[in-house]
Parts: sequence; C-alpha cells; structure tokens
Amino acid sequence: MCTLCALLFVLNSRGPQHAAADGAEPALPEPSAAQISAAYRRLCEMKPDVDIDSWQFALLTRGSPVAQEPVQTVRVGGVPVDARIADDLSQMITDARAQGLKVYLSCGYTDAGAQEHIYNRAAERYGEFRALSIVGRPEESEHRSGLAVDITDRYYEEKTAALENTELFVWLKMHCSEYGFILRYPKDKKAVTGMIYQPWHFRYVGEEAARFMTENRLALEEFLDLYRFADWDRP
Ligand SMILES: [Zn+2]
Repeated sequence: MCTLCALLFVLNSRGPQHAAADGAEPALPEPSAAQISAAYRRLCEMKPDVDIDSWQFALLTRGSPVAQEPVQTVRVGGVPVDARIADDLSQMITDARAQGLKVYLSCGYTDAGAQEHIYNRAAERYGEFRALSIVGRPEESEHRSGLAVDITDRYYEEKTAALENTELFVWLKMHCSEYGFILRYPKDKKAVTGMIYQPWHFRYVGEEAARFMTENRLALEEFLDLYRFADWDRP
C-alpha cells in the first residue's frame, strides 16, 4: 500500500470516538502534520520523470481554457481523437473486446461548436450550475483536446454513476493505466476536479504517469502539483 493510501486508510478507518469505550477496536490516532508531510514528500520523490509541459498533460478544467487543439485527429471506435493516442486507445478497445466485453465510444474530440451544443443541452436539462460539473464550459472541456474519450458498453441517453457496475467499467478501471489512460473524474475527487463522478470519461496521460496516478489515487490536478510544488517545504 502506498504511503498516501495508508494515510487515507487510517483516516477512513477511524471510527467514532466512542468506539473504544464500547469494546470495539480503539480509534486510530490521526496522522500528524509531520506524517502527512512525509507522505507528500515521498510522493514527490517517487513521481515519474516526465515533462508536465508535454502535450499529454494539458490541463483543461474550470479556469483553464483550452490551450491546444489536436494537431491531427483520426477516428477510433467511430469517434475522432488526437492521433497521438490512437494506437493505445485502439489496443485498449481490442483487448477489452477480446475479453468478450462490448465497447461503445460516444465522444472523443469535439470542436468548439459541437461542445457548445453539448453544454447548452446539459444546461437546459440540469441548469447551468450543475452543467458546469458535468460537461464544463465549451472552452474548458477536455474533449476539446482530443485526449479524452467517453467509453461505455452501449449507447446511453443519459450517463450516470450506475455505469460503474458494468463489466466494461470494472475492466477499464483495472486496466486503463496499462494503455496510458486514467479515470479522469473519480468518485471521491469532486473537490479537486470540480466535476461529478464520471465512470465513463477516460483521459490519456501516457502509461508511466497513468500507472503512478492510479496506484496512488491521484487526480491529474494532484499529480501536476507534485511537480509544481515539489520544493514547497524545503529550506
Ligand atoms: Zn467525457
């Protein structure tokens, strides 16, 4: 278990204060600031040697409008994506199908006009505030980069968190990092990503980074921070 996971485990497994008095297992002590600092330092030291200014780490999120559109797109599974992710994405789909799983790609790269249409439709349906955490503003959607794909086992009129129960999602969650993809908006990261849990939206970051993020349960924002603030507590 990684250090951060160990800390999260400690935090998550602390029962109510009366647990010890009831004869249950005694409550575990909260990790100290020093322990948290040490865990963070360890992540900083173990992080892969990658260039976060490289194209696959482009951060498109609230307040970070699109700075790059794909140079070239190709169609994979019926949707356009950045040509640089095509081989890994194709292989992931092929391997999933080889397991007997159905794979359906509903969205890859979308241009400004198409993304605006998607956003307006979501805003009409859910209201503007909620739409921001589902599809994001047109200029802030990852789909504009061609590095993100929505993958489900079939067409859904509306995608919900219940998709986490599909066999395809279980397989993708376990294996997507082997192909350089991460689950971009995990269940417990809304405060970090600003987006609701989306067990269909996968984002390419490259295999090395994807494995590290998945193993350490880091969102892309948290991963990038390891590089930007790596020297935060050094003299
Ligand atoms: Zn998506």
